[in-house]
Amino acid sequence: MKPKKIPMRMCVGCREMKEKRELIRIVRTPEGDAVLDPTGKKSGRGAYVCRRAECLQRAIRQRQLERQLEITLTPEITEALTAEMERLNADGSDPE
Ligand SMILES: [Zn+2]
Repeated sequence: MKPKKIPMRMCVGCREMKEKRELIRIVRTPEGDAVLDPTGKKSGRGAYVCRRAECLQRAIRQRQLERQLEITLTPEITEALTAEMERLNADGSDPE
């Protein structure tokens, strides 16, 4: 039996390795913003966080997100990411 290859990524908030499908990708836009990419299909430099507000906040506070995406997070971007994460968690839908 061949072992199944599960794609793993590290959450930049809690720094744990998780299955890629459990994480949400955050992608850097050409404008230097950062947006959530629930489908994981946007092109650009990306970082992964758990589907949890805590991990997103930690990634922002500890500047892991800025480091990973090589951008400067403005309060506007931070707010937009936070709101988008809340929206995703609230509707509970699976992007797959
Ligand atoms: Zn996490």
